Amino acid sequence: MRKKIVAGNWKMNLDYQEGISLFSEVVNMVKDEVRGEQDIVVCSPFIHLYGISALAKDANNVSTGAQNIHQEESGAFTGEISAKQIRSVGANYVILGHSERRAYFGETNELLAKKVDIAIKYQLTPIFCIGETKEERESGEFFSVIKEQLTQGVFHLEADDFENIVIAYEPVWAIGTGLTASPEQAQEVHAYIRKVIGEQYNTTLADEISILYGGSCNPKNAPDLFSQADIDGGLIGGASLKSRDFTDIVKVFN
Ligand code: PEP
Repeated sequence: MRKKIVAGNWKMNLDYQEGISLFSEVVNMVKDEVRGEQDIVVCSPFIHLYGISALAKDANNVSTGAQNIHQEESGAFTGEISAKQIRSVGANYVILGHSERRAYFGETNELLAKKVDIAIKYQLTPIFCIGETKEERESGEFFSVIKEQLTQGVFHLEADDFENIVIAYEPVWAIGTGLTASPEQAQEVHAYIRKVIGEQYNTTLADEISILYGGSCNPKNAPDLFSQADIDGGLIGGASLKSRDFTDIVKVFN
């Protein structure tokens, strides 16, 4: 079902105590100020997940997620973490295909397709990130990049699985740079994503999927971005580390 979602990506920030306090602040602000039906997700480092998932039980519409999982069920993969382990602490989401994982950890669409499968198997909703680099935007090939990421990353799924995934369009040139895609640029790509999904599956399914925008989103630019017809919310990096900014972005859907 298509939902409004604001998801935070804490990346590799905050020690345990800092993470617990930030999450508690967000939960309290959300309780006092959020009036809409929007879903709120916090994707933290692994160390916080057990603690914040316990706190999330008493919080309306707030869920937790990881920022990565391994593609195998279990086994001799020192330092890795499985979908089952993440699910067992009460998290519901996992970010997959973030451009930082693609660029710094060599994650390919082929590998990501396996991660998507194991996430769905263990009832974790993938927030599947796609987006073009600055060069790909400037050369005009961004539509084909987006189509390839979708085709290789998620188009092996059955139509029913699409109820359990969220797409995040994150132009790489806008992540952590302070450069935001204009609402028109973002809307153009979101509409294209829906069109490609409609062609591969059907238009009902394409209309039902939630597609988030990510890339230097903040309380100032979120209202214009989120008012676009095909933008269902945001994946928020830097601004999710400040409870006031993150909650203000969530409140765009009040
Ligand atoms: C992100 O890392 O997913 C992201 C959108 O970061 P930022 O908001 O800091 O650009």
